[in-house]
Amino acid sequence: MSHDPNCIFCKIIAGQIPSRKVYEDDELYAFHDIQPWAPVHFLIVPKVHIPSMAQLTPEHERLMGRLMVLAPRLALEQGCLPYPQGGFRIVCNTGEHGGQEVHHLHVHVIGGPRPWRKG
Ligand code: 5GP
Ligand code: ZN
Repeated sequence: MSHDPNCIFCKIIAGQIPSRKVYEDDELYAFHDIQPWAPVHFLIVPKVHIPSMAQLTPEHERLMGRLMVLAPRLALEQGCLPYPQGGFRIVCNTGEHGGQEVHHLHVHVIGGPRPWRKG
């Protein structure tokens, strides 16, 4: 299924739910997390509805490669300082035990000066 009408991130991508856009192209969409954990916290999602990393197949290699190459560029644009003093964290929660709450594949990009720590 390329679009799930019940999926909150599909609705965000379609503009049916407002979001603070960070980036968009024909395959990827990035937007600020509504409950940020850190000074910089945005999500990058494929526009196609893929529930999680667990559903990825070799056909998705190029798409996911593009997503990962985009992340550091957007992190800098959003105010993360350059590597190695700055940098950011990538989180991709997958499944219930992985802490995933929204079942549309998304990568968290989290950064900024740290009082925040991993749990
Ligand atoms: P997960 O736990 O599934 O990895 O993270 C889902 C993330 O999506 C959470 O950090 C949550 O704050 C964010 N989120 C959930 N609903 C919305 C929404 O309607 N808009 C935005 N911008 N973020 C959302
Ligand atoms: Zn979706």
